[in-house]
Amino acid sequence: MSATSMSALPQAVRALAEADFGAVAQRFREAGFAVALPAPGILTVKGAAPDAQRSSVLVSVGVHGDETGPIEMVAYLLDTLSQSPGALAVDLMLCVGNIDAIRAGKRFIDADLNRMFRLERGALAGTFEAGRADVLIAATRAFFEGSGPQRWHLDLHTAIRPSHYPMFAIVPELIADGPRTRLNAWLGEAGIQAIIMNPASAGTYSYFTAEHLGAAGTTVELGRVGTLGQNDLSQFADASSALDRLLRGLPAHSAKVEPHVFATAQSIMKLSDAFTMSVGRETWNFTALKKGDVIASDGDTVYTVQHDEELVVFPNPDVRVGLRAGIMVVRVS
Ligand SMILES: [Zn+2]
Repeated sequence: MSATSMSALPQAVRALAEADFGAVAQRFREAGFAVALPAPGILTVKGAAPDAQRSSVLVSVGVHGDETGPIEMVAYLLDTLSQSPGALAVDLMLCVGNIDAIRAGKRFIDADLNRMFRLERGALAGTFEAGRADVLIAATRAFFEGSGPQRWHLDLHTAIRPSHYPMFAIVPELIADGPRTRLNAWLGEAGIQAIIMNPASAGTYSYFTAEHLGAAGTTVELGRVGTLGQNDLSQFADASSALDRLLRGLPAHSAKVEPHVFATAQSIMKLSDAFTMSVGRETWNFTALKKGDVIASDGDTVYTVQHDEELVVFPNPDVRVGLRAGIMVVRVS
């Protein structure tokens, strides 16, 4: 976004969008916390002495540079919290994911950052985002290293298309039962309507922290993409309140809604440039397809609906070859 439009933003929002933690960091430091800025766009605020009873919470925003709603939401929340800094009851890492893309008002510079959190990057290895992911991985490892067993990672996004469930989350299946129950309860408190259980990594940040760092990690889709400074923050009110309570160590409010749970029926992988899809980028998330419907074709490979009904999420035939072009899910509760 331009320098002019950036300067028109409220101070707290502009600071976070520019990954400037100065004022917030200072308030926590003065209150006796161990505050660090391990890399651009990353702030950690820990208790003065290590405490295994204390939860460790990673909140990431702006992993996609055009998804600005959560940046605004977290900016206001953190600004308020830092004015009574002693209320912070967890070790906090705040990560503004793709600061260069945010600055440019784009989703990414070279390639999707949220596909880089894996060892094998193939053709993506030389991209700008691969380097950024390395920085985030190193800082995230350092943050969780030596922390207690209560580990959270909330990676906050907004969807680029309409959705039959505007608020939904992707939760890795490999998270242990106890932490997953607490995570799902938090998601209900945050107003999340649907939870997709994901059996395999697509290279996302939250799957990485769940698989490698023992975090209850989730990718949360909060409503729709909007322009920085012009987001309708009312759509994030429940999520903001739930996050605020988590950071203050307050008991969870009862769930606003009981989220529906979906299992992943199949992942649609783009294998070659011959890939075509019967649904496109404009298709709403959670659109239902019937048994036998062709979802996509890729040379000799034809993806069809196997269950009586499968719902399509994140359909995108334009992804790079080798990446996931969509998920098919079935409702389990
Ligand atoms: Zn996103």
